[in-house]
Order: sequence, then structure tokens, then C-alpha cells
Amino acid sequence: MTATFALLEDWKYSGKVHKDATYDFTFEDRYIIYHITLRNKVDYIALDIITGLSSSVITKRKGELYTEASFRKLIPHILYSVKYTGDKRYLNRFADDPLKVIDSIFRVVLPGNGYSIREEQIDLSKKMYIGFTEKQAALCEAEVGTGKTLSYLVAAIVAKHHNGIKYGQNLPVTVTTSSIELQKAIVEREIPNLSKMLLDYYIIEKPLTAVLRKGKEHYFCRYRFEDFFKNIKKYPEKYKTEIEILKQIEKTCGCIDLDKYRISGTLKSRICVKGSCAGCRRMKDCAYSDFCSKMYSCSELDFQVTNHNMYLMAQKTKAEDHLPLLRESCFVVVDEAHKFKEAAEDTFGEKIGEKDIEKYVNGVKFLRSPVSDRIKYRESLEKLLKENTELFKSLRKLRHDNDIDEDRESIIKLSAIQTGRLKRMMQLIEKIEDMKINRSYGIPVTGMLLKNAITALNKGSSIVWLDTDENGILSLCCTPKDINNILREKV
Ligand code: SF4
Repeated sequence: MTATFALLEDWKYSGKVHKDATYDFTFEDRYIIYHITLRNKVDYIALDIITGLSSSVITKRKGELYTEASFRKLIPHILYSVKYTGDKRYLNRFADDPLKVIDSIFRVVLPGNGYSIREEQIDLSKKMYIGFTEKQAALCEAEVGTGKTLSYLVAAIVAKHHNGIKYGQNLPVTVTTSSIELQKAIVEREIPNLSKMLLDYYIIEKPLTAVLRKGKEHYFCRYRFEDFFKNIKKYPEKYKTEIEILKQIEKTCGCIDLDKYRISGTLKSRICVKGSCAGCRRMKDCAYSDFCSKMYSCSELDFQVTNHNMYLMAQKTKAEDHLPLLRESCFVVVDEAHKFKEAAEDTFGEKIGEKDIEKYVNGVKFLRSPVSDRIKYRESLEKLLKENTELFKSLRKLRHDNDIDEDRESIIKLSAIQTGRLKRMMQLIEKIEDMKINRSYGIPVTGMLLKNAITALNKGSSIVWLDTDENGILSLCCTPKDINNILREKV
């Protein structure tokens, strides 16, 4: 007894056996029988000292522990266990045999929680695991009902742990999908369920952590909220409803997720985060800013779940001079990948809506720098508005004349007059940016945004088309012709 007891203690110490294991007895000089208390139940385990493998003997309720006098009652269970269920591993095998861990999860842990064993799901998970760890792109397709979400979550978490042990790497896994429903299901249901099952079976030691990363327009901006609130308070009758809603929001300070409030899209767009935060004086007490800093400094994050546009925007703006939109990750899972190319065309494309210049002018009209010329500043703003009106008048006419369809097939070619207008608009924006004070926070449409869009629209390598939203607002849109190369380079 002393030698096998000491052996168990050694294995506990080296992490091969769970640290809370309690020695019971040794069976046939080969199997150390021990138990672990899991929440409300007690698992009896047989550890084969020759092979080092463990198997589950029996699970009892807490308070139904075997004693020395009743140990013999365990013998039939031990015999059955070592013969038929010698697959249940309590060992952490992430480092030496991760594919076996995937097998154990799908063949033992999940069935123990009511899931059926699906060979296709296990194969899929292993293929994805190989893709992750061998730095390949694994293109996987599976029928509805295969359980692909669990497949990639298991593959990703095993690969992440494996990399952690082998290379000391501790980066989250990025999961990007097309629909918000799926993103919520992954963060609120799939990951917590998987976490609980893996904890119960000692596959992981801490609960899995996940965060849903939405675009910044889903979050509350204190600066824009106060600015907008101050303005509409001047017209209490006209904005009675909005004022009431904003008062309610003010009371629930701390909740920065605007999707949690029942507010219209228009109101949301007035108080959400937009443009850049650089230089904002409210940054110190800004909950959104705090949320972002925590996100970047949290070392325990396992998954960041986001949408295709946000993920692609993070790749597009990676080298720019601000905090990256997403944390760097060890692996990326692109779910609902059939929507990925369309999202890339949107994200790597640019557009100017017919109201954008007006929004820009309203945002910057009081931002003239003290040293610049007041009259020139006002004239430039007026000229910019005029060029924009004329441009969209001609585009609207083009739309009527050609009876253009709603989809992106309705491509147009800008005339020399229209490109000339765009060039003049660019010069005017540059002039205004030179004269205005250097502030970009709180401005819904920034000069930088407009300049990027005009540059792209005037490039010969772009596909240009017109789009009308549900309110009849026209937008001039473009996307690069070589989207495949851009994706290869950025993603
Ligand atoms: S730091 Fe950004 S989000 Fe926060 S109040 Fe300022 S502009 Fe708004």
C-alpha cells in the first residue's frame, strides 16, 4: 500500500492525476483505486500503474462513500471498468496527445452529458485542429445537424491549450460569423455549456471565457450623448419623447451596450461611438473606453466572437495608429463563410452617402482654428455642400435614366464632370481640415473617412455603383476589383 500510495502522490504532484484525488486501495497490485469529489458526486477511478491510463469505475452521490469494509463491493465495477470503459481519461494529455483529448471529449464527456457520438463531428474537429496547429487553412463543410459549432470550439480550445503548454502562447481564439444570433448563441450558450462539461471531467482547470465584440456603433458614447442631449433640450416640445428616453438612459449609467435599450436606429446613431476617440476629454470616465482597455489587458480571454465586417475591418486597419479593433488571436474560425466575400467587398470598399457631407459640415462648422480665416472657412464649407448637392443631383438623374437595379450588378461609370466634382470636394475637405482645430472625436463623419472614400471612388481599379437605402438616401459605393488579392494579403 505504501508504495502505490506514494506513486499516486507523485502523479498528483506531477499533474498526471488530479490534485484532489484521494487514495482508497490497490487492486491486484496493478490498479490504484482513488476517488475525486465533483460538485455533488464522487467519481471512483482505477489507475493502471503499468499503462498510466485511468478508467471510471463508478459515480456515487456525496455521502455514499465506500469504506474499507465495503471496498470489496467495488470489485465488479473495477473489473467492468478496466475491461470495457478504459477510455475515460482523467489525465491532462493536451501536450502529448491532443487528438486523443478530442476523442475523449466527443466519445466520453459529451455522451456523458446526453450528446450522441457523431463520427463526422469528430473527424471535422480533428481536421480543424490540424489546420490550427499546422498553420494551414482548413476549409470544412458539414451538413446541418453535424454540430459544427461544438466541433470547432473543441478543436480550438484543445489547440489553444496545446500551444499554451508547448510554446507558452496565451492568445484568444477569434470566431467570426455572419449573424448576431449565432454570435450570441456561441457566447451565451455553447461556450458556457462546453466549459461546464470540460470542468466536470477535469479536461480544463478554469471556466472558459468569451466576449462578444460588436462594432463600436453598438456602444454608448458619453461625449456624443451629452452633446446631443444638450441640443435637443433646447426644444422640449419637439423632442419630448427623445428627452424622456435619454433621461432613462442617463439613469442606467454603466450599461454601454445600446442593443439593451429599446431605442430607434436614428436615436441610437446620435449617441453611439463614432469616428475616433483620440483626444476626447471624457476618456477618463468613459465606460466604453474602460471596456476596451479591459478587453486588451485581460490575459484570461479564451474566445472573442465577432462578425465578419468587424473582423475584416480589424485586418484592414491593423497598421493604423490606434488600438487594434480586436485582440491578436492564435487561431481564427470563420463560420458562415459563404458570407465572408460579400462582407470583404463591403469592408474593403468605400462609400459616400448623399447626407455624409452635410453631417461632416455640421460636425466641423464650429471647429475653425483661431488662426484661420473665418470667411474662407465658411466659404469652403458652403462650396463643399454645393458640390455635393450637384454631384448627387446628377447621380440621381443617372439612376432614373438607366433604371438601375437594386443590386451590385448595377455598376456605373462616373463621368468626367462627376470625377471633377469629387476632386474639387477632396481639395475643399483638405482645406477645411487644414483650417479646423485638430479634433476628430464626436464627429460622425470625419474628413479622413471622406478623403479615403473619394480616393477609392476616383481609382480606376474600383467597381463603382449606386445604392439606395430604405429611406431613399442615395450612396455612391465602390469596391476594389482585386478583392481576392486584398484578402490574401490582409487575411
Ligand atoms: S472616449 Fe470615445 S466613446 Fe468615450 S466619450 Fe470620448 S469619444 Fe465617446
